[in-house]
Amino acid sequence: MKKIFDVIIIGSGISGLTAGILLKESGLDIVVLTKTENIEESNTQYAQGGIIAQRDEDSPEKLEKDIINAGDNFNNLTAVKEFSENAPKLVFDFLINKIGINFSKDQNNKIDYTEEAAHSVRRIVHYSDHTGEMIEESLVKYAKKINLNILTSSTSIDLITSDQHSSDIQELYKEREVMGVYVLNNKTKDITAFFAHNIILATGGLGNLYQYTTNPPSATGDGLSMAYKAGADIINSEFIQFHPTSLFHKDIKRFLISESLRGEGARLIDHKGKEFMSKYHPLKDLAPRDIVARAIYQEIYKTGVEYMYLDLYRYYNGKEPIEKRFSKIYNTCLKGGIDITKSPIPIVPAAHFFCGGVKIDLSGRTSVKNLYAIGEISCSGLHGANRLASVSLLEGLYWAKKTCEDIISKKNQIKKERFKNILDWKVPKKTVEFDPILIDQDWRVIKLTMWNYAGIIRTKSGLSRAKADLSYYAHRIYKFYKEAKLDKSIIELRNAITNSQIIINAALHNEKTIGCHYLINDE
Ligand SMILES: Cc1cc2nc3c(=O)[nH]c(=O)nc-3n(C[C@H](O)[C@H](O)[C@H](O)COP(=O)(O)OP(=O)(O)OC[C@H]3O[C@@H](n4cnc5c(N)ncnc54)[C@H](O)[C@@H]3O)c2cc1C
Repeated sequence: MKKIFDVIIIGSGISGLTAGILLKESGLDIVVLTKTENIEESNTQYAQGGIIAQRDEDSPEKLEKDIINAGDNFNNLTAVKEFSENAPKLVFDFLINKIGINFSKDQNNKIDYTEEAAHSVRRIVHYSDHTGEMIEESLVKYAKKINLNILTSSTSIDLITSDQHSSDIQELYKEREVMGVYVLNNKTKDITAFFAHNIILATGGLGNLYQYTTNPPSATGDGLSMAYKAGADIINSEFIQFHPTSLFHKDIKRFLISESLRGEGARLIDHKGKEFMSKYHPLKDLAPRDIVARAIYQEIYKTGVEYMYLDLYRYYNGKEPIEKRFSKIYNTCLKGGIDITKSPIPIVPAAHFFCGGVKIDLSGRTSVKNLYAIGEISCSGLHGANRLASVSLLEGLYWAKKTCEDIISKKNQIKKERFKNILDWKVPKKTVEFDPILIDQDWRVIKLTMWNYAGIIRTKSGLSRAKADLSYYAHRIYKFYKEAKLDKSIIELRNAITNSQIIINAALHNEKTIGCHYLINDE
């Protein structure tokens, strides 16, 4: 009989590692799986700005108001209230006092609280301009110290459910339960069934469905399609947040140019050097994120170019030299041949954050028994139709804690005999090795279709066209997936097409412009 874990956690970003640490320290037998070779590779690793934390000058009511304003009143009010009351102190209790993170300090050696758009109070703590890297590396260091069982290069393929994967017909007539996950070892290409009494999806976002994104290549939304196949409820998938400014460069992809540059004077300009934001909003370059993203997108399409510019060097009004204040951005751009102290930065908007996802309750429970979801892939309704900046790292932390409390108190145990009936992964009799060019071509189609039709500005006719185009591709990709010798890239492609269809259907279903779902009804 195979080993049965108490909990399998899929994902090693802030949410997965926090859950792993808390469960391990409670004495449970767990494993954390991650599909990348490097434990740290995740959206968490690339977070720049910071994380909301408790502050005397702040109050739960103020935070609640800011989250709901940003979310266009589409939020789950109970989730926002609970989060605002209980989450911010976790930064001190967990990240600072337990994990030992030293966030940046001000001149008086006190924690430096910074400001971001749409926050009524300075409540964001940060580590210079690479907060995520510091958080992720500190969590990994702590996890190693307590010998947390982490398996890298292990790609989860499908969740094992009692009714879909058991040879016992009687399971069909009982409530569906998740009992494990089929996992590909990326190196040996073996596929193994991992069993557990509880599964936590912590698989992060899906920016890679879009031509331009700030997310790393691993962000393909695998948890969303796995949960969908397992029959879990999915909500708010039309709400994809776009960041206005990512670097446009032939070699450096996915690099975020933080909002704080505009906070310190930088202005958006076109190819003739003319600023254009005054045409779009009285706050000009400091208008809300979605308005700035749409303005840039419209300027790009009106003028037939591929990008706009962000001019920092002529408008910078900060005190420190640019090289010091924006060290990471300065050094990254310089590597690409752009000296931001002497020339404007080519930028393009990019898919940044998934506000929807696998529906969860206040304890991280999905609609399928024993299955939990936390972090960016989950949707409690906290963000509503749009996300307030710097809420998401804390969301991962908070729901990891809530989920662990639920798992620890419930002590769920599935009868051992039931695992004996779980079928092994079915390998097709004849497998085919596909040319990577085919996979690349399908990816390009998905990314471009999503960018043009389900992106920053959507039309009903564009979404309908995308639906038709992607259903043609879906048919081909699923067929190809069934015959292929599986590897990580094919699994990601299968998930990408499923997720694109989920987003497009949700966008077609929601006929109103709200939050980051901007729809022109042209039919
Ligand atoms: C450039 C950038 C800047 C950001 N800045 C901020 C900020 O300043 N403040 C803020 O609050 N938020 C910010 N965000 C958002 C925030 O970083 C994410 O929402 C958050 O880190 C998500 O954490 P997570 O644990 O849910 O997922 P992730 O950190 O993305 O981790 C997902 C994990 O799941 C694994 N995984 C995925 N699929 C599989 C599979 N099939 N099998 C096995 N493993 C799998 C991945 O390998 C990875 O380990 C930013 C995001 C980006 C990209």
